[in-house]
Amino acid sequence: MEVKKSLRCPKCKQSNIIPIYYGYPSERTVKRAKLGEIILGGSSISKNSPEWHCKDCENKWGVYRQFF
Ligand SMILES: [Zn+2]
Repeated sequence: MEVKKSLRCPKCKQSNIIPIYYGYPSERTVKRAKLGEIILGGSSISKNSPEWHCKDCENKWGVYRQFF
């Protein structure tokens, strides 16, 4: 299992990354998104949906596995 703190952007190698949240966001989730802790990916999710977003270079990567 990967440790999230050690994750880095595969493109720019920075660790300024946040997870992408899918689905209808709760009030708390919206607040976190406004604080820049997460990014909202919208309600549509596919098997190609990325899991991580880099705040430095806007890169998105990974595979989102949590379907709901
Ligand atoms: Zn990056």
